[in-house]
Amino acid sequence: MSAHAPIAAIATAPGRGGIGVVRISGADLSELVRRLFQRELTPRHAHYLPFKAVDGERLDEGLALYFKGPHSYTGEDVLELQGHGGPAVLRRVLDSCLAAGRDLGLRLAEPGEFTRRAFLNDRMDLAQAEAVADLIEASSVAAARGAMASLSGDFSNRVNDLSDRIVHLRMLVEATLDFPEEEIDFLEKYQARPTLEKLAGDLDHLIAQARQGVILREGLHVVLAGQPNVGKSSLLNALAGDDVAIVTPIAGTTRDKVVQQIHIDGVPLHIVDTAGLRETEDTVESIGIARSWQEIERADVILHLQDATQPGHELDAQITARLPPRTPVLKVFNKVDLLSTAFAAGPGELGISAKRGAGLDALRAELLRIAGWNPGAESPWLARERHLHALQDAAEHLALAAGHAEQDDRVLDLFAEELRLAHDSLSSITGKFTSDDLLGEIFSSFCIGK
Ligand code: GDP
Ligand code: ZN
Repeated sequence: MSAHAPIAAIATAPGRGGIGVVRISGADLSELVRRLFQRELTPRHAHYLPFKAVDGERLDEGLALYFKGPHSYTGEDVLELQGHGGPAVLRRVLDSCLAAGRDLGLRLAEPGEFTRRAFLNDRMDLAQAEAVADLIEASSVAAARGAMASLSGDFSNRVNDLSDRIVHLRMLVEATLDFPEEEIDFLEKYQARPTLEKLAGDLDHLIAQARQGVILREGLHVVLAGQPNVGKSSLLNALAGDDVAIVTPIAGTTRDKVVQQIHIDGVPLHIVDTAGLRETEDTVESIGIARSWQEIERADVILHLQDATQPGHELDAQITARLPPRTPVLKVFNKVDLLSTAFAAGPGELGISAKRGAGLDALRAELLRIAGWNPGAESPWLARERHLHALQDAAEHLALAAGHAEQDDRVLDLFAEELRLAHDSLSSITGKFTSDDLLGEIFSSFCIGK
């Protein structure tokens, strides 16, 4: 399939709507425009025209917009036909375009192919192209805002700034490598160590923000753990029932696992209710319990639910001892409505009543807080796991570079090599060096017509 052939697709969502858009992109669409309209179109003007079949039949009428490359979304010539938004009429308009352009190589676009061309033609970098998909996918206001920030280049600019500073340092080292007698002085002369320290500090800050961006995009996996009957299912229902945003029950793979998606302050949470954790002889139940422990191992946050009327239960001590050491755990005591006196919460503990809905706001806030979400931070751009890994990788190479700078014999070539690797990692975010496999993976998850 030619990467340069003109492409066409219905760009609006399937179904019925006020308008529907057929979009075409190609290196030179002037001949196709003449065939479709028997005239030329002024770029960037709205032309109200009939959309006709090859045999002259009127299929629809609407606005034709023509963008001459490179001043277009894809960087190529782009033609947009805005007609009535019905599936049959749009299909007919698309088919007539394909028929008119067949011998010009016009074909149906693959998912994400318009944006892929925009990336390949330098209209946007890879992180921005990903943000296009994220903006379309965004299911909360916060996620949409974050995607838009990434699309505007807020995130890419930060990455590029760090990249440029690494490149500058690299240039100085590599220049020095050609004059070995100066190597000893290099670190002092160019203040390499403080420069590197500042770089590493700024990178750490970017990593912390990217982590927020990933949480906003991917959501948090919260696992409800606890003995049977402490109120796990009741809590899940209370959290989901209060959620005014989108509540989508996702069918669990097994009866013993229920996942609810809720939003807290725009952050998506995937809450997993597990089978109660206890010693059991029952095989079916023990399978459920084994699965619960698997879920717990994968959690971003563990909510260890306990019965406030039975504090210090032996089973809860056993559960605590088995929880993965690095995952944040929130200890929550349920059924405080049954206590005759107010619940005395210890440090890191919360009292709630799932039944009465008491303490749930504090619980929500605390869940986000221990997951590392910082609501006070300025609205972060959206980020992907891929970006976070690349940033962390770059940070590791900077740390290794700093290590070489500390050595007595000051291995400058190794120092330079680590800087190069750090730079490559950052470049992978904006797509300066990317494999076709990665591009395929990223763009195939787009919708058709984008
Ligand atoms: P799970 O086995 O941990 O999922 O617990 P359930 O949610 O099924 O609840 C077990 C029992 O505890 C049910 O009878 C609930 O009605 C009751 N329960 C749950 N939460 C509360 C609460 O906050 N207060 C009181 N009094 N009872 C509760
Ligand atoms: Zn339950």
